[in-house]
Amino acid sequence: MRTVHTLKELRAILAGYRQQGKRIGLVPTMGNLHEGHLALVEKARQAADVVVTSIFVNPMQFGASEDLDSYPRTLQEDQDKLEAAGNTLVFAPSANEVYPNGLARHTKITVPEVSEGHCGATRPGHFEGVATVVTMLFNMVQPHVAVFGEKDFQQLAVIRKLVADLMIPVEIIGAPTVRDADGLAKSSRNSYLTADERARAPVLHQTMAAIGQRLAQGETDHAGLEEEARQALMAAGFRPDYFTITNSLTLKPAQPQDTELTILAAAFLGTTRLIDNLSVVRQAP
Ligand code: AMP
Repeated sequence: MRTVHTLKELRAILAGYRQQGKRIGLVPTMGNLHEGHLALVEKARQAADVVVTSIFVNPMQFGASEDLDSYPRTLQEDQDKLEAAGNTLVFAPSANEVYPNGLARHTKITVPEVSEGHCGATRPGHFEGVATVVTMLFNMVQPHVAVFGEKDFQQLAVIRKLVADLMIPVEIIGAPTVRDADGLAKSSRNSYLTADERARAPVLHQTMAAIGQRLAQGETDHAGLEEEARQALMAAGFRPDYFTITNSLTLKPAQPQDTELTILAAAFLGTTRLIDNLSVVRQAP
């Protein structure tokens, strides 16, 4: 496995693979890799001959008061894990390589509607940053297929719309969320949790699972269920950001007649912001 830091090296290596007719898969990440990321690499291996994992903590998707500087950077460990997982090439560019003229006047991609609520509402500019860097990664790597986690459900919806609207010739594959044994979705940000916070963190998933079960059984009082969930989270010491029952396709607040539902939630434990989601099918009345 090789690691490259520049676009020039990346393109030179990929040109060779393309000449051999290899199918190229891309797994975009911000590094500090865990089993969730490695499951994406495995999916990419099933769909492509060559897997490129990018590791880039993208400054454009962080707000001014967010954790850009403290975000864990563990390139050596990440490389070891990727090598063991059968990854082919690591692309780990510097911010200067990606944004040589700085961020302020860089072209930005805005994806309307699906990026507007939820994380888009509480993290202004976040999805513009994601859509922009993912578009750039698609242009840098020109993959046949790219794999993203359902852990970031709204992000996956933003990327699917981006690819459809801009007619980018890449197949998008979603991969299920990998969780710890107690249900907490694996995340690089879990390392910020104190031991006490880590012990309470599974309540986020547990609360979604309980509400999801009631939705599946046919309940339609979404506002009531959302309020119950917020109370349960606060009782466990969370500061809920949002907990919303949405239509799985539009990500707009679900209507009583909707049957394909996704609960989207974000909540702070101390200073750490956790997100999770759960999709359910509601039985027809
Ligand atoms: P990140 O490094 O957090 O930007 O995530 C990179 C990719 O890994 C994104 O497509 C995420 O959705 C995905 N991912 C992160 N955590 C998980 C998880 N627990 N299970 C599955 N995919 C994940």
